[in-house]
Amino acid sequence: RPSVVFDNVLFGYEKDRTILQGLSFEVPAGQNIAIVGPSGAGKSTIARLLFRFYDPWSGRILIDGQDIAQITQTSLRAALGIVPQDSVLFNETIGYNIAYGRADATQADVEAAARDAALMPLIERLPQGFDTEVGERGLKLSGGEKQRVAIARTLVKNPPILLLDEATSALDTRTEQDILATLHRVSEHRTSLSIAHRLSTIADADKILVLQDGQLAESGSHLDLLRRD
Ligand code: ADP
Ligand code: ADP
Repeated sequence: RPSVVFDNVLFGYEKDRTILQGLSFEVPAGQNIAIVGPSGAGKSTIARLLFRFYDPWSGRILIDGQDIAQITQTSLRAALGIVPQDSVLFNETIGYNIAYGRADATQADVEAAARDAALMPLIERLPQGFDTEVGERGLKLSGGEKQRVAIARTLVKNPPILLLDEATSALDTRTEQDILATLHRVSEHRTSLSIAHRLSTIADADKILVLQDGQLAESGSHLDLLRRD
């Protein structure tokens, strides 16, 4: 059963302007699905609907077979881990910032998280400071380091579904390549939906959906889409 289903979703912010034109797609469990499209196509709107900042005019959005309109905000937030492009960190230690991904995390949890195989590729490249009391603070980190902390903070929740919303688009090209490689390692075999405006940042996706004016224009593998260009 697919983890995320958009079933004929019709939505607009204003009543005379439709943004998503009956959009349907699925994110199968364990796969990395990417949505690419020009600015204004409706990509971020998909993320906002998933979090129920807005509800569709018609159609349904399902997570693990359940209509998200029927589940609590708490379970919805537990199901979705988001990495946005401009993650905000507290001016606290790296450990504090990572532990914040779980409201109930203790120092021992942070240390355990720091040893977690899934988090290693993220954490290896950070300056010292997993202790929640001492160590490098959020505001001192570079853009790439901040994004590593933000990704680790999301992953400690172990969310069943990972939503990457332009997760690397605020970074310079070199840092972007570095974070993309890390994201590839940590998102393998994880159910994820990546939102991107450039094909080059989603080369690893199992399937790419091209969104244009709130509709799917085409879909396929990275190679399929490059061939058709
Ligand atoms: P993308 O992420 O693909 O760039 P968005 O989903 O952010 O596109 O936006 C799709 C369209 O919806 C755009 O035309 C945008 O101007 C419009 N839009 C986005 N947010 C709002 C809003 N809060 N109110 C009205 N229109 C909006
Ligand atoms: P929580 O803290 O509730 O466990 P997360 O840490 O996964 O949730 O997400 C942090 C917050 O970011 C949530 O409140 C979520 O609603 C919000 N959010 C959702 N979509 C976006 C987005 N596209 N960009 C930035 N923040 C978002």
